[in-house]
Amino acid sequence: MDFHISTEHQRLMGLVDEFVSSRLLPLEQDPKSFDAHENIREDLLEELRSEVKALGLFSPQMPKDRGGLGLTPVGQALLYERMNRSIFGPVCFNCAAPDDGNMTVLSKVATEAQKKRWLDPIVRGEVRSAFAMTEPHPGGGSDPGMIRTRAEKRGDRWLVNGHKWYITGAGAASHFILIAKTGEGLRDGLTAFAFHKDDPGWQIERRIPIMGPEEHGGHCELRFEGLEIPDENRLMEVGQGLKLTQIRLGLARLTHCMRWLGLAQRCMEIASAYVAEREGFGVKLADRESVQMQLGRVAMAIESGRLLTMRAAWRLEQGGKARPDISMAKIQVADTLHLAADTAIQLCGARGYSKDTPLEWIYRYARQARLVDGASEVHQMVISRAYQSQGRSFFAWGPGED
Ligand SMILES: Cc1cc2nc3c(=O)[nH]c(=O)nc-3n(C[C@H](O)[C@H](O)[C@H](O)COP(=O)(O)OP(=O)(O)OC[C@H]3O[C@@H](n4cnc5c(N)ncnc54)[C@H](O)[C@@H]3O)c2cc1C
Repeated sequence: MDFHISTEHQRLMGLVDEFVSSRLLPLEQDPKSFDAHENIREDLLEELRSEVKALGLFSPQMPKDRGGLGLTPVGQALLYERMNRSIFGPVCFNCAAPDDGNMTVLSKVATEAQKKRWLDPIVRGEVRSAFAMTEPHPGGGSDPGMIRTRAEKRGDRWLVNGHKWYITGAGAASHFILIAKTGEGLRDGLTAFAFHKDDPGWQIERRIPIMGPEEHGGHCELRFEGLEIPDENRLMEVGQGLKLTQIRLGLARLTHCMRWLGLAQRCMEIASAYVAEREGFGVKLADRESVQMQLGRVAMAIESGRLLTMRAAWRLEQGGKARPDISMAKIQVADTLHLAADTAIQLCGARGYSKDTPLEWIYRYARQARLVDGASEVHQMVISRAYQSQGRSFFAWGPGED
């Protein structure tokens, strides 16, 4: 077991830290930095993305021959938490969901021609993307076997009809990945496609209002009524839509954990600074044992999440799928983010509940963590199934089974 960090990773971590501290944290303080949906204003984002590009840190998760730094999952774990010390961080580095997961899956499964058309413009930050899978009842949500949006082959084209919702970023995306039903099989009944926002035969019915701040483009409900997709825009083989989804969601869930761990650490940072200064009843808050216990509990939860996340990242690098590891990390870190924001708000008193710090923003955002990319209960099911099939070897060290 080796927890040493390479010199190159240390250098990159230093660059990210410097950019986040000097450029992003001051902007969070200014209400004018935000758009109407509580995210960073688009023109400001463009300016900051140019600065990140000049530093050579834009889309670092992409292979070097596609303009990235070739970061592996372990490298991503090291950098993403530092980026998300700021609520604006990941999107400035082009490491935010859903583009992050969409780029990763396209770079793994698309043909070279598809990469040129669908991936490279996202890597360069010229367009945004969305991943359309979830449907309203009676369609597919937690259970992808229930997906009803159908793609039917007509010559060399596919005709799509159906309904999707909660599609993050759809209002600002140009490139979409769509999961549709093309057969009856449980494991081979779905196929993945790429389409462009200007293709006729689909529309955004509404941008769904949510409790938290929104990604650019919101969370939208989409209706497909005769969208035509040429077969050349099919991703992977017919019937491999579930496989593509698993390839995408494995690492995407883990990168959520990496980012959320940065937000959780930021919550601690804000709370620690407050209790170090604030006094009551003749005692500094930081000197009270009950306050120390709260901060200690959050620190331990964060560190547990970091270890689970890092081991899952390492297991991915060893070639495994690390499915139960990713599920454990996702549950632990989603709960930790909520605990960290809640504790920090409590320790900061009225200031914690105000908009003078990003704590209330993070608190509202945190609630989605137990739902997106699989509800915690579904991940518990995945862990239980892995344990039941692996028995005692579930607890083995090393690359792990899948
Ligand atoms: C902010 C946000 C962004 C999202 N972005 C996207 C996106 O970009 N693209 C996309 O396709 N989807 C997206 N989603 C949808 C998300 O992936 C789904 O909400 C999630 O998979 C759960 O599906 P569902 O909402 O249909 O819940 P349902 O399947 O209806 O489940 C409801 C609840 O039932 C319980 N439950 C379900 N299954 C089980 C089980 N096996 N055991 C025990 N309990 C269970 C859980 O508590 C679950 O929360 C987003 C959702 C949110 C909130």
